[in-house]
Amino acid sequence: MVDFDSLPPGATQQERALHVLETVFGYSSFRGHQGEIVQHVAGGGDALVLMPTGGGKSLCYQVPALLRAGTGVVVSPLIALMQDQVDALAEVGVRAAFLNSTQSFDEALQIERRLRQGDLDLLYVAPERLMTPRCLELLESARISLFAIDEAHCVSQWGHDFRPEYIKLSILHERFPQVPRIALTATADQQTREEIIHRLQLEDARQFVSSFDRPNIRYQIVEKANGRKQLLDFIKSEHPDDAGIVYCLSRKKVEETAEFLRGEGLNALAYHAGMDYALRTRNQARFLREDKIVMVATIAFGMGIDKPDVRFVCHLDLPKSVEGYYQETGRAGRDGLPADAWMAYGLQDVVQQRRMIDESEADETFKRVLGTKLDAMLSLCETLHCRRVHLLDYFGEPSSPCGNCDTCLTPPVSFDATVEVQKLLSTVYRVEQRFAPGHVIEVLRGIDGERVKQWRHDQLSVFGVGSDRGEAEWRAILRQVIALGLLTVDAENYSALKLTEAARPVLRGEQQVQLRRYRKPEKAKRSSQRSGFVETNLSSEEQALFEKLRWWRVETAREHNVPAYVIFHDATMREIAKARPQSLDALRHVTGVGEKKLETYGAQIIALIADMESAGT
Ligand code: ADP
Ligand code: ZN
Repeated sequence: MVDFDSLPPGATQQERALHVLETVFGYSSFRGHQGEIVQHVAGGGDALVLMPTGGGKSLCYQVPALLRAGTGVVVSPLIALMQDQVDALAEVGVRAAFLNSTQSFDEALQIERRLRQGDLDLLYVAPERLMTPRCLELLESARISLFAIDEAHCVSQWGHDFRPEYIKLSILHERFPQVPRIALTATADQQTREEIIHRLQLEDARQFVSSFDRPNIRYQIVEKANGRKQLLDFIKSEHPDDAGIVYCLSRKKVEETAEFLRGEGLNALAYHAGMDYALRTRNQARFLREDKIVMVATIAFGMGIDKPDVRFVCHLDLPKSVEGYYQETGRAGRDGLPADAWMAYGLQDVVQQRRMIDESEADETFKRVLGTKLDAMLSLCETLHCRRVHLLDYFGEPSSPCGNCDTCLTPPVSFDATVEVQKLLSTVYRVEQRFAPGHVIEVLRGIDGERVKQWRHDQLSVFGVGSDRGEAEWRAILRQVIALGLLTVDAENYSALKLTEAARPVLRGEQQVQLRRYRKPEKAKRSSQRSGFVETNLSSEEQALFEKLRWWRVETAREHNVPAYVIFHDATMREIAKARPQSLDALRHVTGVGEKKLETYGAQIIALIADMESAGT
């Protein structure tokens, strides 16, 4: 229960909202649209909230639920995470519970009783449960402060997270017309937005669209040579002590990569939909609870994972779309501290993805949609300009070069590659558009291997015209040429390269081609400096205290059986390490320390600091 008594009588709604933010959550101000959204919903209005992952959606319904009388009902598809969400709320003193299929009948009965008695601030419910007559009747017998529909894009039939039960959620509006509803999603595109409004009958809801920029994430896309090795170098040099996610396309590759990383001494776990349910769930729980775990996974992993201190998200394979890439990389750095999105990408990725589309069962229209999405992804990989500008532009948001992506930090050099491309296209033509990339490059480079001899390709005029460049360089050129759509890969014919219409003007010399100059993949260097939006470096004394706090947190989290970040975020512990508060009152001012946490942990923290001071460190 929030204590409003310390507020002067006649305090405004805004003052009451800030009071909840400070005393319960320990934050001093709302971020972005949060304040407005809270006001609007607390006042009884409907809202549609579009905010990127990590933007702070939860507070948009949690604060109004605490301001209004009754229980806020949160509809969420993420059953596996409800326990953690409820535990995290309990840590800040909010009375929360959930109803889903993992509970026994008795447990559910008890929650139902608490709801009727007005003994809950928030109740999380899975959509299929909510739709049962029993549950709807239960809600009618209680006082409901608001409905929050989380992951609202699940109503979209064209999206990848479609949940049929979500469509039925319009019933909430019909049965509870007086209760405000707030729908939230991190999916940005216009089509999804319209579908949410239409399906949930949110025509009259106010829309709050935030910027989708995640300035603390550094985007980096490198040329793939030996992907696994590059990944290992990256993790070891940049994030040896951090938690992160590595995405792979196939289940097999997930398992192999996890094993490889384990063999190199990293604490790596695997996650994919083909794994035994119990093991998969256990791995997810370990990732959330323990420090420094690298989760190697297919895209089955991640929705609703709100671990704030994921420091890196890597892709070892090319994602199918920019939407997917942005959602996956968005899981890094929710706490606002610097984080990395790193991807290794090469010719083989392009070939593989094209083949997957060609070979899929989908009809032609759908294949075309998939092809367009892939093209957009390739164009992000090959861009000569700021990655972030490119990404945000894809979501319809104008911006300027960010200074925190690889192309901004080390601008790629472009060169007039018209002659090289002509050589490549001619070679494809001379081998009658029947050979795969490897063979074409051998002919170009004048390598007279067995197959080349067998087909008498060493007799061709183009044999060896590209001997001045190495194989990796030609692969880079070929990859870009495919990305530009001058060549396609014929999946049905042994990945044979074929010319497209677009190749003609280049072959005729009517069109120039600019490409990215090839750069040898470098060994990852530890980036010495991060752009200045957040101060991250701790002095050695501060670091010592931070490490001590980290240990304390591990033990405390284990005792309470909750993930470490539920106790305190890294950002909060950094602030403590810097400020070294000597009293509870000083500790109260640290971001992320609310009244309940102050009461539970304050004395321990102060003692820990005093301990260090007297030890003279
Ligand atoms: P989303 O659901 O949009 O991905 P969350 O609600 O999980 O984001 O919030 C992301 C992180 O930002 C959380 O760690 C949360 O505690 C923090 N946060 C949210 N709002 C604020 C705020 N006003 N001040 C400080 N931290 C905040
Ligand atoms: Zn940039």
